[in-house]
Amino acid sequence: MSKKLISIFIFIALASNAFASMFHGDHDHSNVPEEFKTPKTMFANIQLKNLKREVSVLKSLDVDILGVNLKEKNVDVLLTSKQLENLEQKKFIINMVTEKSLLRRPDQEYKNSEEIAAFLTSMSEQYSSISKLIKIGESVEGRDIWAIKISDNPESDELEPAILFNSMHHAREVMTPEVGIDIVEYLLSNYSTDSRVKNWVDSNEIFVVPMLNVDGNNRVWTRDSMWRKNTQGGYGVDINRNYPHRWASCNGSSGSRWSQTYRGPEAASEPETRALMGLVSNIKPVFNISYHSYSELVLYPYGCPGEKTATHALVSSIGQKIGELLDYTPGTPWEILYGVDGGDVDWMYADEQVIPYVIELNSTREGFQPSYSKWRDKTVERNRPAWMHLLDRLEQSGVRGLVYDENQNLTDKFTVEVLDSRGNKVQDYRGNPDGSFHIVLAEGDYKLNIKRTDSRSVKVETLSVSSNREDIEVRF
Ligand SMILES: [Zn+2]
Repeated sequence: MSKKLISIFIFIALASNAFASMFHGDHDHSNVPEEFKTPKTMFANIQLKNLKREVSVLKSLDVDILGVNLKEKNVDVLLTSKQLENLEQKKFIINMVTEKSLLRRPDQEYKNSEEIAAFLTSMSEQYSSISKLIKIGESVEGRDIWAIKISDNPESDELEPAILFNSMHHAREVMTPEVGIDIVEYLLSNYSTDSRVKNWVDSNEIFVVPMLNVDGNNRVWTRDSMWRKNTQGGYGVDINRNYPHRWASCNGSSGSRWSQTYRGPEAASEPETRALMGLVSNIKPVFNISYHSYSELVLYPYGCPGEKTATHALVSSIGQKIGELLDYTPGTPWEILYGVDGGDVDWMYADEQVIPYVIELNSTREGFQPSYSKWRDKTVERNRPAWMHLLDRLEQSGVRGLVYDENQNLTDKFTVEVLDSRGNKVQDYRGNPDGSFHIVLAEGDYKLNIKRTDSRSVKVETLSVSSNREDIEVRF
């Protein structure tokens, strides 16, 4: 694009900023740097030479990074005209720039929160013997947030492994609820005819939250198709920077209300964050996938630069497998792009012993608004092997146990120390509230020290873990 055309766009943007600011006089603008309070009205694609270095410059300028093309080394951003000037001065290569208002809007076939609720209600009524609708919380504006549980005997907790699939932390990522919808439809409608599906549903408790950020999504449909955060205070909090693990700790979020990655005034300040946390703490899933868009990535903890999980070899090997299945790039956020703090998967791993993944659906070609007719089915079908793999993986190498106290009652007052065949500690696992533990392991020989936390009792189990999960009972 010519310089002249870019300046025309800048002129339009400046004019529309001035216009917009007339209607935003209610905000407190004191002491806020200019770039944070000016609406980001420009869309640009930026060519990068050293991806991570230049992305970190973009982050430091609080440019809104939408998605990345790793192979061709370019990134889509929203920014203010001043930020654009700044990037030009810094000799960034701008492949294209346009006004945000000229971007494609989401197709009407994508769901709003009422349609999601209606879909889940109708499915749970039609398949009432294998599913149950669960309200997990309410949004800032008082909308209900829904999960569906899919399992045989859905009314009871059968001490089966749990797994969670959730979508739409970020409002503008309109393809993500479609994957949740596809999981629900696939499992419920194929249960009676497909033995693989029947086995998954009968043996596990499968939870799907197709739309967490219901208020933000409403704003996408009514006011701003590029809205990302919830709607707290009108400015919004990025609920995926609001979780308690390493909240506000490694420059992976913003303290400014005007930033797209505003982390909120304190950890877990947002009702949407707490709704998902409550569900996770209650069901203790073995695995989770959080669906986002876009960039074709499989991300796993941790988000802070240089940090790896205690079971990194296992977490990354499953992440790489998912990457292979989808032909998406696997890695931690900081290995691939930039640091993130307060993300859901970090909290799930650190505090809840979940093995969690983020999948970034779609590429820069499709962006946030892929044509529904062209991309919806293709995207959900391409993504099936990932969630199916984790459902299979629940039954594969690892150990699941139930722990009983001296009175033959299930107890949660225990830890499991796992040692490999050379005596190295593989991990420490805390007992789940229902008296179970579920430890995913690579194949091999292990020793488990099951230690009661309310007495000095210890039970020792030696195990040879093969491709199938070992199920044991431990009785004190
Ligand atoms: Zn996202």
